[in-house]
Amino acid sequence: MKDTIVSLSQKNRYNKFLKNKIEISCKCGYSDNITYFEFLAGGEFNFGQPVPILSPFISESVYDETINVTPLQLTRKCPECGKEIIVVFPLSLENLIPMLQSQPPDPQMYG
Ligand SMILES: [Zn+2]
Repeated sequence: MKDTIVSLSQKNRYNKFLKNKIEISCKCGYSDNITYFEFLAGGEFNFGQPVPILSPFISESVYDETINVTPLQLTRKCPECGKEIIVVFPLSLENLIPMLQSQPPDPQMYG
């Protein structure tokens, strides 16, 4: 699954979505920004435990109101104090995949 995300992000490297930034901040005061692309395409992230959340699509015909979402986490070492900073990707795995698949790359535009 990780390989799928890495290769999808590399294929979508010009996708505006991947240019969004995530802030990394450490308790010591250090902070930095990385792009979604840097987070995903390097393949350094790990999957967290799936977390049940309330489904946003509750209807009377749905029995199970919760769905599981899988967080993506990246561990970075703080260059200031050496402690580990855990960065959680703002989208769950389940939401991320369709984002990466929805906009096929168009190399003609950038050639
Ligand atoms: Zn630090």
